[in-house]
Amino acid sequence: MEIKKVVIIGSGTMGSGIAAHLCNANVPVTLLDLTTEISTNARDRIFKSRPPLLIDKSKINNIKVGNISDDFDIVKEADWIVEAVVERIDIKHQIYDKIFKFRKEGAIVSSNTSSIPIKVLSQNLTNEQKKDFCITHFFNPVRYMGLLEIVKNENNDLEKINSLQKFCEIELGKGAIVCNDTPGFLGNRVGVYAMQIAMTEAFKMKLTVEEADAIFGRPMGIPKTGVFGLYDLIGIDLMADVLKSFIKELPKTDKFHEVAQEIPLIKKLIETGYTGRKGKGGFFRINKDGGAKILEALNLETGDYSPSKKIDIKSEKVDLKKLINRDDKYGKYAWSVISKIIKYASSLVTEITDEFNDIDEAMRLGFNWSKGPFEMLEEIGVENFFSKIDNYDGNKFLENLAKSKNENFYGERQKYTKIETLGKVKRKAQSIDGNSSAQIYQFKDYNIVEFTTKANALDYDSMDALKKATDKPLIIINESMQFSAGVNLSYTMDFANKGDFKSIEKFIKYFQETCKELKYSKYPVISAPSGLTLGGGFEVLVQSNFVASHTNIVIGLVETIVGLIPAGGGCKEMLARWQNTEESKKDPHFAPLKVFDIIGYGKTATSPVEAEPLKYLKPEDKKIMNRNSLLEASKQILDENRDFNSPSELVFNLPGESVRGEMYKVLDKLYNDKVIQDHGMEVAKELAYVLSGGDTSIDKQLSEDDLFKLELDAFMKLIETSKTQERIKHTLATGKPLVN
Ligand code: NAD
Repeated sequence: MEIKKVVIIGSGTMGSGIAAHLCNANVPVTLLDLTTEISTNARDRIFKSRPPLLIDKSKINNIKVGNISDDFDIVKEADWIVEAVVERIDIKHQIYDKIFKFRKEGAIVSSNTSSIPIKVLSQNLTNEQKKDFCITHFFNPVRYMGLLEIVKNENNDLEKINSLQKFCEIELGKGAIVCNDTPGFLGNRVGVYAMQIAMTEAFKMKLTVEEADAIFGRPMGIPKTGVFGLYDLIGIDLMADVLKSFIKELPKTDKFHEVAQEIPLIKKLIETGYTGRKGKGGFFRINKDGGAKILEALNLETGDYSPSKKIDIKSEKVDLKKLINRDDKYGKYAWSVISKIIKYASSLVTEITDEFNDIDEAMRLGFNWSKGPFEMLEEIGVENFFSKIDNYDGNKFLENLAKSKNENFYGERQKYTKIETLGKVKRKAQSIDGNSSAQIYQFKDYNIVEFTTKANALDYDSMDALKKATDKPLIIINESMQFSAGVNLSYTMDFANKGDFKSIEKFIKYFQETCKELKYSKYPVISAPSGLTLGGGFEVLVQSNFVASHTNIVIGLVETIVGLIPAGGGCKEMLARWQNTEESKKDPHFAPLKVFDIIGYGKTATSPVEAEPLKYLKPEDKKIMNRNSLLEASKQILDENRDFNSPSELVFNLPGESVRGEMYKVLDKLYNDKVIQDHGMEVAKELAYVLSGGDTSIDKQLSEDDLFKLELDAFMKLIETSKTQERIKHTLATGKPLVN
């Protein structure tokens, strides 16, 4: 069964997200709603969405729009019809009546419901119709969330379900997990329970919202929005509806009820319009009184707001064992929350799925956790877990594990897919070396380096791991949200604060040396990025021999924003790419000016389609929808390049002062227009010096090392200035740029 045309009914948050993502996969799609105005507005929202739902905005008109009264005929042409209307069974039933009258024989019909069981959705369908009906539960935002839960009914044509799953996996890039017809399926059942336990325990243990989010966040391998931040993001009112639906659907004996009771403070928040970020605020709010914007947090006991306090629990890395053994309220909270999540999730095997593994993967793909509950249990250690846990009566999974005490109970990862993923390979590979910033694995005849720091920020150790791994073909890839957000700025600032600029210089030199080794080592090096690939992260990529990129990347050189210039080869490589153009052959000023514009503004691209015109990516770089396939694609590149020869070194002929004059003219205008200030001017002049080739002329040949030297000198000059240091400190503290 081939899916060539799709119709989506309901153009709200989910319908429009699914339409955008089908457009990303080049599948013709039509969005129908009650009126064409609603679906047209939905298309406008797709166009303006941030982060963008579309990989290529110019394709927006490939999404056709219409209404269910005049345009329903289009359903006749569709191979797949997705229902994404409001969560009301009467409306959904009416829609199915109409769809099944119009659809062509054999076309798949699915619902995006998050809470209505398939047996209820399909109760009016004939057995023949049921063959083609299922639930396809996408997560919001559709382009970015990896999970798709597929729920079958008892009559499904299994071949069809398999081909739909395959389509969603390969073409849409989703982790498509088939699961049982139980409330909340896998992701929401465990994910919402986890949020509720994190919240109710915080109330019980009298933690502040900032404290709870500081624990139920990065230290547990969970996104930093934590629990209260996530509540605000989703909408406090929407969460209340989700809970009501769970209460209605789940048997009274289910432990979910214990954490889903209405909390008076939350009821009051909703009643007074404090529904989260979309409302007046929620557990956090921005107070604009008095001109300045101040982030405030809610006091869970009094219901009053006061300026939010940053909580530093002094744990940079995910180390669950250490976290749950801490002898303070944070340790107690962490253990209480983690142990209850493990208990609940394990009590659901085999009710919601036969594979506990699927629950872990659903939490990774649907909630961006770095480990699911069972992997958490594995990390804590079976013996350790049972020595701490109070009771687990009636929990078959834990009872069996307590008997077997099998520390290696986990087995394979990502059983839901046939793709040879990084997750699977890591378990089979030999871990050959590593440090606190990266791990090196060897698998068959190649090495893998996986960065492991927060946002995969790079430091000396990251470089060390890369350097050590070039004795074989190398794939640089990871499973976390970001490929790398760039050089670790706090690491750099620690040296700067001590006035130890020698150490910064040593680090940058080592960074350059490592990147040179990546580029020129005997064996091919492949970068397989997903997520942020910025600054130093981009420099690692651009000096790899090949790239297999996920379509969800944010890529660029953003150093100028923190008062620096790219000094790990970023300026050099961008010059090389732009020199290699027809325009540059005619005009020697072309490449330096182009790169000056790109790096000067710290331009970023949010997809490969945007990245190519900037030359952050090349047309021959592979672009892949399914993140799970990045390792296979990289491996294929290795296979295709068995007779790899490392490239020959680049040479540069740069114009020197004459092009600098042109760059200064641009800067003067920006300065007069108050777009940049004094330090912006200084940073840009250093960048101009590097990109023009320094004190050179067009007839002189510069080597890559000459360019590295220019980059290093400019970087060192800038990092020593107090104004660059102010920019870095500001960005580290607020996540925002400082214009000075
Ligand atoms: P929404 O309220 O944003 O959009 C619903 C759309 O359906 C609206 O545009 C509305 O005009 C339209 N609609 C209502 N009646 C209709 C009819 N008879 N014919 C055609 N269109 C009609 O809702 P949403 O958040 O996009 O949710 C849609 C479905 O997806 C629901 O079943 C919901 O449970 C599920 N879901 C939502 C999320 C989420 O995060 N929002 C996540 C997963 C699943």
